[in-house]
This record gives sequence, C-alpha cells and structure tokens, in this order.
Amino acid sequence: MLIPALKLKSSILNTIIKIVGENGVSVNELDRFSYSRDANTRSNIEAHYAHFKNFPKIITWPKTNQQLANLIQVAAENNIPITTFGGGSSICGGATPTDKSLVIDTKRLNKIIRLDTDKLYVEVESGIMALELEKYLQRHGYTLGHFPSSILCATLGGFLATRSAGQYSSKYGKIEDMIIDLEFVDGTGTIRQTSDVSRTRGFDLTQCIVGTEGTLGIITKAKLKIYHQPSKKIFQAYIFDNFENGIESLRRIMQTGIKPDALRLYDEYETALVLSKISKRTVDEERLASTMPDFFIQNLKSFKSSAFNLLFKSHRLLTQFLSLAWTRCALITVLEGSEKIIQPQLEIISNVCENLNAINIGTNIATHWHKHRYSVSFEGAKLIQDGAFVDTMEVATTWDNIDHLYHGVKRSLNPYCIVLAHVAHIYPDGAAIYFTMISPLSGLRRSVKKYDSIWQHALKAVQDYGGVLSHHHGIGRLKKDYIKKEWGEAHTLYHNLKHYFDPNKILNPGVLAN
Ligand SMILES: Cc1cc2nc3c(=O)[nH]c(=O)nc-3n(C[C@H](O)[C@H](O)[C@H](O)COP(=O)(O)OP(=O)(O)OC[C@H]3O[C@@H](n4cnc5c(N)ncnc54)[C@H](O)[C@@H]3O)c2cc1C
Repeated sequence: MLIPALKLKSSILNTIIKIVGENGVSVNELDRFSYSRDANTRSNIEAHYAHFKNFPKIITWPKTNQQLANLIQVAAENNIPITTFGGGSSICGGATPTDKSLVIDTKRLNKIIRLDTDKLYVEVESGIMALELEKYLQRHGYTLGHFPSSILCATLGGFLATRSAGQYSSKYGKIEDMIIDLEFVDGTGTIRQTSDVSRTRGFDLTQCIVGTEGTLGIITKAKLKIYHQPSKKIFQAYIFDNFENGIESLRRIMQTGIKPDALRLYDEYETALVLSKISKRTVDEERLASTMPDFFIQNLKSFKSSAFNLLFKSHRLLTQFLSLAWTRCALITVLEGSEKIIQPQLEIISNVCENLNAINIGTNIATHWHKHRYSVSFEGAKLIQDGAFVDTMEVATTWDNIDHLYHGVKRSLNPYCIVLAHVAHIYPDGAAIYFTMISPLSGLRRSVKKYDSIWQHALKAVQDYGGVLSHHHGIGRLKKDYIKKEWGEAHTLYHNLKHYFDPNKILNPGVLAN
C-alpha cells in the first residue's frame, strides 16, 4: 500500500511538537493509516477490498485543555482542518478525516476530576474511555446508567458529541439528559465553560454544544449526573402474536409512568434469529420454535452458514411469506433496583402483556441478550469476511406514527437488502426503531454503489414517513445532506453559531451540517 508522501511545513510540525512534545504527535505512515477511517461501513467495505484513502497529515494526543487550545490556534492560523477523534466508533463517518486533516485524539484527556456523592455527580475529562468511567463509578457503588453497545470502544466526548443513547435509556435517558455542564474549546482556541441552567430556564449553551459532532468546539470536560448502583436485576420475555400488539404493549407500559431499564421488541425476522441462537431452549421456547415454517428455518441456517447470495435471492419472497406464516414477536424486559421497586413494575408489565394475549416465555432470551449485549462490536467485521455488509439505522418517532414509519421504511428497502428491526429506547411519547440492513458484497465499485443507494432510499423513506434521521448514532458525513430539511429554521441558527465559534471553519468540515 502506498501512502502519499507527507506535505507539511516543518515549521508547523515544530510548533506542534513544542505544544504537545515529541510523544504527543505523529506523522508516521502507520499512524496516518490507522487514523484514516472510523467504524463506518462504507470504509469497512473499501478496506475489505484493500482500498484506502483519507490519510490525515498529523495525529496529535494533547494531555491538557491548554495544549488542545494551542493546537487549535495553530490550525486556525494555518487554515488546517481538524478532525476530532475519540474512540473512532462513529458509524456515520463523523471521525473520518480528510487528507489535509490534523487529527486531535482526545484519549489522553482522561482524568476523573471529582466524584461528588452528596450532589450525585462526576466531573471528568472527555477523552476517558466509557468503560473505564463506568468501572470507576461501579467500584464506588454508583453508575452513569449509560450502556451503549459501543461502551468498549467509545469515549465520553464522543457520546456527548453525538447525543448517544445507552441500552437503559428508558430509565436513565440519553447522554444529553445526564449532562449538567461542560467545558469546550472553540475553533479560535478559546476555552469556554457552560453553566448549569437546568433550574433557571436560561439559554442552555450546554445543549447547543452537545450533539454538534465537534463542529462548534471540542468538548474537554463534563459534569454528569450519577445514580446509586442497583442491587438487583430481573429479566423476562414475552411473545406477541404480531408486531403491532408488541408496539401497543410498549406504549401502554411506558404510559403507566413506570421506568423499566430496558424494553426491546424484535420484529418477526429478528425474533426468529434470536430464538435460533438459544441452544438450550425451555419447553415454551421449543414449542414456539416448532411453529416456525420449515422454509424459514432453512433460511436461518443459510444465514448462519453465510450463504448470503442464496439468502438474498430468496429474501424478498421470504419476507412476503413470512408476514403470512410467522408473525410472532419477542419482547424482552429488564428491571433493576430493589425488590420493592421491581416487583410492582413487573406486575404492571405482566398485566399489560397478558391483556394483549402475550405469552410469558421465561427469562432465557432476555438473559442471552444481556450476556451478549456488547458482542455487536465484533459481528460486522465477521459478516464482511463472510461476504456481506451490514449497517444499522436508528430512527425515532411518536406512537401515532410508529407502524407507518416501520412499514414504510421496510417496504422501501426490501428490494435492495435484507431488513431486520427491533424497537428499543422507549419513552412515554414514542420510541426508536433500529433497522439492520444486510446485503451481499459484489466487488468494490458495485458494493459501494449499492451501499450508497441503500442509504439514499433509507434516508428518503425515513423523512417521507415522518421519522427523525438519527436517534443516537449522529449525522456525520453519511446523513448530512438530509439534515437541513429536518432542522428547518434551526439550520440557520446553527450556521450563525458556527460562524461565532468557528469563524475559520476548521472544525470537522464536511460533518453534520457543514
Ligand atoms: C459496534 C457499535 C455499536 C454502537 N452502539 C451504539 C449505541 O448503542 N448507542 C449509541 O449511541 N451509539 C452507538 N454506536 C455509535 C458510536 O459508538 C457513538 O456515536 C459514540 O458516541 C461515538 O463515540 P467515540 O468516542 O467513538 O467518538 P468518535 O467516533 O471518535 O467521534 C464521533 C463524532 O464525535 C466527534 N467527537 C469525538 N470526541 C469529541 C469531543 N471530545 N468533542 C467534540 N467532538 C467530539 C468526532 O469528531 C465525530 O464527529 C455504536 C458504534 C459501533 C461501532
């Protein structure tokens, strides 16, 4: 592989070395190669065919907010675009650099500054790896309550920059519900501190910075709410006759006012997949699995044995038959807390499910999910090796529109890829639908073309059927062309803020709404 020779004035490199020291900067080929992409699927497809690009010029690892501010000043003076890199787990190309970029990796800004167990908050630098922060809190008997599937490979700053959601968001909220205030460095290199205005109804600068994907400033520090670690966890699973009844149960449960930690409703395809993964089934699960049509089981086998072309050829037909032959959908529930808190919630959930004719099938599926809840981090890579690419899209809407959005997106995508879905992140007024899109690889150019076309159909369908583009993965480079329509007047406001905080437009160009 040939990485283009570095074109960089030695005076700039020397200035950067003065700021972060020899160990805080690299221009070597291996580092430029390693930082040339994040976790987005388009780059993964290209990498599968050994096609690499976007090698940044310089990678830096500042250790203090002042070093980071000085780096931004140098970039601003020399008109060098900056890519902020946390864990690099963005699946929308948000942390993918350009070949002119100065990369600022935040992971050495990782100090825990204060744990306040009276006011229940933790103050921490933004580059800390998410799992490290959670482990620290749990050692002291607390939790952040934020458990995204990427907890093994993401930073706190990345979460804040993308408005991330964890698996227990129904109880703890998303990261923007946890933040109290933050420090950031804007595009002029000025260090700024936001205020906690949660009780004053003031103009909330914290919430203006959260979710802007590093385009208005780099978050360096944050104060976040914490909770006492729950003493007990209870799992349960139910099977509904169809997806619509499952959705109705979610709405009814959340509107009773209880706050289950997690509710996940799988559509019929994902339900069958989930069931097929359980090796030791209970009597109820066995009975249920035996009602799956034979042709469906054959397809699941080919899914597992990676005969993707075969599966893909038959999937359109399969999906049509499936709606007639197998409509069962599984709901898993997780409740945490003391016995006194859990039991009444469990009763409410059981009543709602029974009233909708659901069958309680025990705990197996739910505990299996819990055990493997972070494994998704490794599955995409395996699928690519097996000859297919996979991507996910998490959209949200209100209860009155959820069936419309689900069926609309599925209909629009069915001609182009296999589509599975589940509903997670459940709120009193609505929920997020998480679509998984799978398609066989067919050479570099055709695969990338197919990938782009699937996303164009997907994003158009989301907007046509009244969903929002992203519940938690962010916009990045992937969805930016659609954001203007979603934001409306706020798009102008964003650009005014951009002009104010980043007049040279050096922060993450090409990301979000740039
Ligand atoms: C397998 C897998 C599972 C995932 N599961 C979830 C999930 O359950 N929930 C979820 O919400 N997301 C999930 N994601 C998406 C991703 O993990 C999140 O978007 C996460 O918030 C990114 O964190 P990061 O540290 O990796 O950020 P990066 O990928 O490095 O960056 C993401 C964006 O934020 C910017 N950024 C990073 N740090 C800062 C900072 N300090 N200040 C300003 N801007 C910054 C970057 O420039 C980029 O635009 C998943 C991703 C993968 C690969």
